[in-house]
Amino acid sequence: MKIYITGLPSGYEVEHLVRLFYPMAPLTLTPPENAEDCVWAEKTPDGLHALVRQDGRSAERHAPLPAPVEQGGETPEFSLASLTYDLLRDWTGIRPPWGKMTGVRPVRLIHDKRAAGWTEAEIDHFFLDRFDCSQQKYQMAKAIADLQEPILKVGNEPGTYSLYIGIPFCPSRCSYCSFVSCNLDRDRKMVQPYVDCLCREVEEIRIQADKAGLKLCSIYIGGGTPTSLSADQLRQLMGTVRANFDLSKVVEYTVEAGRPDCTDAEKLAVIKEYGATRISINPQTFSDEVLAGIGRKHSAQDILDCYAEARKAGHDDINMDLIAGLPGDTVESFERSLRQAIALDPENITVHTLTLKRASRIVIEDQKENDYADVAAMLEKCNLLAEAGYRPYYLYRQKNTLQNLENVGWCKPGHEGYYNIYIMEEVQTILSAGAGGSTKLVADGGKRMQRIFNFKYPNEYIQRFAEVLERKKGVADFYDHDLGTQTSG
Ligand code: SF4
Repeated sequence: MKIYITGLPSGYEVEHLVRLFYPMAPLTLTPPENAEDCVWAEKTPDGLHALVRQDGRSAERHAPLPAPVEQGGETPEFSLASLTYDLLRDWTGIRPPWGKMTGVRPVRLIHDKRAAGWTEAEIDHFFLDRFDCSQQKYQMAKAIADLQEPILKVGNEPGTYSLYIGIPFCPSRCSYCSFVSCNLDRDRKMVQPYVDCLCREVEEIRIQADKAGLKLCSIYIGGGTPTSLSADQLRQLMGTVRANFDLSKVVEYTVEAGRPDCTDAEKLAVIKEYGATRISINPQTFSDEVLAGIGRKHSAQDILDCYAEARKAGHDDINMDLIAGLPGDTVESFERSLRQAIALDPENITVHTLTLKRASRIVIEDQKENDYADVAAMLEKCNLLAEAGYRPYYLYRQKNTLQNLENVGWCKPGHEGYYNIYIMEEVQTILSAGAGGSTKLVADGGKRMQRIFNFKYPNEYIQRFAEVLERKKGVADFYDHDLGTQTSG
């Protein structure tokens, strides 16, 4: 099956929707041969045309060109994508749960429409009719938007920001990962210089934030795997954070303990002692076979032991990540993982859907899609979370996610991860430290935005650290301008 699109400046939207039905179909630049299997979408001066041909059978749909957007019409891109989607939905009998919605932040869309004064009925129509979104997914997105509203008010207070600190080291590489992360065994020598730079960058962030009059709201130390650091390195880093910021004022301080193969009782105690309020221990699955298959060097029992150690160290707000759609997993074994996570009773459980990123080993070495079990059926099992008292509080989608499905954070009431909401809904300034860090500056209620990027790779970050510090001065400069704009306006 090939995808062929003509007559549009960008066929991205059409291609994306066709892939809901034919995930691995290549895009071709030459017209398919007469009998060749294809989806052919075309805009011509006289209208829009969609054709599907498969195994000698075919079907077509045609529509006039849409009215211009200024006159209430749709863009030709959306209209052609929509026509093709309708054709393929009938042809295949598949009803994609999110319909024609290609955006990655459906909850944000609800917030935006509400802020723009749309009625609930108009938003219902927008999701259910225009985008053919299923009731189930829409109701979940709407419930999450309701739950987030008071939390977003805190994060939206002018002048608040969150601090992100990235640790790009891991004990081994997971097969589905495309993140820039160094292997601890290979790059151990780089860790100490990296931590030294990171501490200096954290100090610079405090200086810049003070100059700009910004108030720290939440802290997130993520990765990679932050517990790749030794206990002493964690003390050094978290000690620097504690020395520079008033932790009594932050609403949340998260450290991703990540993997049990580098997390021990001492590190868990350090994380607690230095002020973290929330940690993440991420099994991804409780199946030993699946863990081995994705390149994790630990067993399910190691996760249980790590979780018990974390409770012993006094951690009372724990998140656990699971992934639906891992190679070798089945609906039954995913359900067992979910039940196991629920039995541990963590405050948060985040269920991700596997994303096939180009740089991951799964995509590079294993181009098959058939090995991946029925992910939609796995996500259906998340009703077990609702039955156990968890409720969904943040949701986002990524490109190339199996069956175009979503990632959802579930929590016990009162345990919403604030940072997760702020980053997903893009409402807040985030100051980032570390390799690959992306600082996002927001002002004027979101009307002004600017990004400052750090170097992507840890060795470059260390070698060109003077430039990293220099760039950070852009934080105060940005808000200087903001104050000038406000006073002159
Ligand atoms: S632990 Fe996380 S960041 Fe590290 S390789 Fe695995 S998925 Fe990637």
